[in-house]
Amino acid sequence: MAGNQSIDLHVHSVYSDGSLTPDRLAWLAVQRNVSALAITDHDSLAGADDKLAACLSHGVECVAGVELSCELDGREAHILSLFADPASGCAGQLADISRFREKRMRLMLERLESLGIHIELPDLRIGESGAYGRPHLARAMVEKGVVKNLNEAFGRYLHDGGPVYVEKRRLPMAEGISLAKKLGGAAILAHAGISGLLDDLDRFVEAGLDGIEVYHPKHGGETIASLLAYCRSRKLLVSGGSDFHSPGDGAEIGSTRTPRELLEPLRELAAARKG
Ligand code: AMP
Ligand code: FE
Ligand code: FE
Ligand code: ZN
Repeated sequence: MAGNQSIDLHVHSVYSDGSLTPDRLAWLAVQRNVSALAITDHDSLAGADDKLAACLSHGVECVAGVELSCELDGREAHILSLFADPASGCAGQLADISRFREKRMRLMLERLESLGIHIELPDLRIGESGAYGRPHLARAMVEKGVVKNLNEAFGRYLHDGGPVYVEKRRLPMAEGISLAKKLGGAAILAHAGISGLLDDLDRFVEAGLDGIEVYHPKHGGETIASLLAYCRSRKLLVSGGSDFHSPGDGAEIGSTRTPRELLEPLRELAAARKG
């Protein structure tokens, strides 16, 4: 069994815009032969104890992590902090970002209202999460019968620049990298291939990036090969994950088949950082 074990270092839970609890995620990980799981919620390390307990109870290794929403020249750049320390003194900075997400959600609800669509904050069932995201709103719109599915919600209303869209607070890329490291984790550029950032990788490295999420469901073979070569040439660590949010909605847990041997270098770097 050990030979074909893989890991998944990028999934979302009810602590941000995913639809499953940590317990359900850990259970699914076992079904899919995933031996280590990083539940990297958006801009939040909330639920760290719950995630750890869920993974422990299913015999899956838990990697504490978070996905930070950052920007580079107006483009989204998501930085993962893997093997982060949930008790880090910097966790307060994440709470500020989450508070801003709530403010932003209220603004988006006002925009919907002006279009004659009435949804209130309590209609967004955000569970344990402080990190309101557009998927919460999209699901509420489906429940209210405003749209048929999430695609329609994003396509008609919520997409970047769409009629209901309000920008969220995003850290400048270099600040995101430094926060990821201050949290004690390895700073990894998520889904580098889907945000139009491939020509700017040197700028991330100059800002202190530790590694790149090479394995991601939206990366084709060519992107993976060129990112692997880039990591080799710049001595960057390699990571991978499914970016799973919800069953049937994008890639499933473990689908990126990220090799287990990538885990130790990430762990060692983060351990050295925590000193
Ligand atoms: P936010 O962080 O609130 O800006 O929302 C971004 C999140 O929305 C992403 O992390 C995805 O989970 C989700 N998302 C973005 N675009 C789409 C889409 N077209 N369909 C479904 N979910 C999407
Ligand atoms: Fe998301
Ligand atoms: Fe992301
Ligand atoms: Zn993600």
